[in-house]
Order: sequence, then structure tokens, then C-alpha cells
Amino acid sequence: MNFCSHCGSNQLDCKVPAGDHVARYVCQVCGTVHYVNPKMVVGCLVVHEERVLLCRRAIEPRYGFWNLPTGFLESGETVEEGAIRETWEEARARVKVERLHSVYSLPHCDQIIIHFVAQLQETGIEAGPESLEVNFFAETEIPWDDMAFSSHRFALERYFENRLKPDKQTYLGSSCLRTS
Ligand SMILES: [Zn+2]
Repeated sequence: MNFCSHCGSNQLDCKVPAGDHVARYVCQVCGTVHYVNPKMVVGCLVVHEERVLLCRRAIEPRYGFWNLPTGFLESGETVEEGAIRETWEEARARVKVERLHSVYSLPHCDQIIIHFVAQLQETGIEAGPESLEVNFFAETEIPWDDMAFSSHRFALERYFENRLKPDKQTYLGSSCLRTS
């Protein structure tokens, strides 16, 4: 951080404020303490005829790899609205959120990834500007080795392992706990 977002000063000091326990950028001119908090990332596991919707990335990072339609939550959105919007933007799929599926923490890069199980509202899908291609995959067809992110792989694995169980639960994951 180079400038104070409150007053524009470049006199920032990185220190632990009184009563705090973490170093923050503190403006020496106006006194504003700049807190950095994790970003929310939201997406959908869209299920249609036993298959799940995946998008092949047309953007970095991980260009050419596959992901669930997922992206950063915008200010003013609920998490469900963000997941529905991202699914439209990446796969031109109109969906209805059914339930919360997984929450995955990435503490080393300050992100929380939330995936919902969703159903298609209209049958058409099409690659949006951030996707090279989009398609539905059965469990045996999923390009497991070409998945872009561990958090998406986690959501898919938990879904297919548990989809026939009558009680639906929410799965918690984190990059720190994974060994594979
Ligand atoms: Zn300031």
C-alpha cells in the first residue's frame, strides 16, 4: 500500500495499532488504520441430468484449465446473487440456487470460496467472454487433472462422493488441511 485511501497521503506506517495484534498500514496524516480482509469468491455447481457444468478458462490465472463458474462477489450483492451472475457471465446459464454446498478457505491468499448447488432454469449454455468452452460432465468425464483450482476440485469431489446420500450437508475445506 503506497497511499492512504482516505486522505491520499503517502505517509503510511506499517505497525501494530494500540489494542490490536496484527500489523496494519496506518496513515500518519489522518490516522486511518487500513484493514485488509479476505475477498469472497462465489460460484455454482450446476447440475443437469447427472452432469455438472464446467468452463474452460479464457483468462489468467490458469488459462486453459477448467473451473466451476465462479468469481469475486461484487459490493451490494448477496452471495447467491453473485454466484448466479458469475454463472451467467462465464457460461450464459440461467440458474436457480438450490442450497449451499461448500465453503473453502484460502488463508494464504486471503480468499473464501463459496459454491452453491444450482439447477438450470433454461437449457441453453454458451461460453461467455471469460470462457473458451463450456460443457456438462459426468463424474467419469471430468478433466480432474486439468482443474484450475483446488477449491473447485474439492467442491466437485464432495458432490460426487455424496450425491446419492439422502441428507445433504455443507462441506468445509481449506488449502492448509489438504494433503493431495
Ligand atoms: Zn490518511
